Amino acid sequence: MVVNEIFYSLQGEGFLAGIPSVFVRLAGCPLRCKWCDTKYAWDKEAGNDYSIEKIHKAVQQWPCKFIVMTGGEPIINSDLPQLLQKLKSLGKHITVETAGIAFIPDLACDLMSISPKLSNSTPNASKLATVHENSRLDEAILRKLIDNYKYLLKFVVDSQEDLAEIQKTIEEIGDVDLEKVMLMPQAATRDELLAKSSMVADMCERTGFAFCQRLQVLLWNNERGT
Ligand code: SF4
Repeated sequence: MVVNEIFYSLQGEGFLAGIPSVFVRLAGCPLRCKWCDTKYAWDKEAGNDYSIEKIHKAVQQWPCKFIVMTGGEPIINSDLPQLLQKLKSLGKHITVETAGIAFIPDLACDLMSISPKLSNSTPNASKLATVHENSRLDEAILRKLIDNYKYLLKFVVDSQEDLAEIQKTIEEIGDVDLEKVMLMPQAATRDELLAKSSMVADMCERTGFAFCQRLQVLLWNNERGT
C-alpha cells in the first residue's frame, strides 16, 4: 500500500473530535476537490510502499486505541480489508474517513465517517470537473455504507446556498438518522474557519444538525501532520 504519512495527533473532526488518534493517510484520490486540504496525497504514488506488517508495526509507536484511516480516499484501496483486520487484532477503534464513493463489505471498521461531496467542491478545470461530477456522489453507495456501518455524515459548507443541496442529498439517500448529520465549515486556514463558523453554527441551530469542528485548523492552522 502507498502510505502518504502516519502520525499521532488529535482527531479534529466528527463526533470523536479531541480524541488522541493515530492517522494513517493512504495515497490516492480521484476526486480532486477544489478546496481539498490534502492535495499532497492525491497521487496514487504520493508516498512510500508499506506492507500491512509495516503499517501494523508503525501504528504501535504510540499507546493509542484510536486509529483513523484517511487519505486521499482510503476506501479505493483493495488491501484495506486485510489491513483493518490486522489493526483490529490489536484491539483498536478504527475510523475510516471517506467521501463515500465506493463500498467494501465487512470492513473491520468501528465508524464510517462519510463526507459526501457537494457541488461546492467541483474543481474549476473542465477536465477535472467532469471526472469529479461523474463520481462525487452516488446515493446507492452511500446507502450501502449507511446500512452496513456505524456512521456519521459530514457535509462541508461553503455558503448559505449549500443547505438546500444538503437537504436534497439527505432526502435522496433516504432514511438517514438526522442525529448523525454534521455540518462543517469549508476552511483551509484558521482565519477562514473563524470567518465561516458562525454562519455554519447558525445553520445548525436552524436545522438541528450538529456543528463539526476542525481542531487541526483551529489549533495548528492545518499544518501537515496534524
Ligand atoms: S475526496 Fe477528500 S481527499 Fe479527495 S480530493 Fe476531495 S477532499 Fe481531497
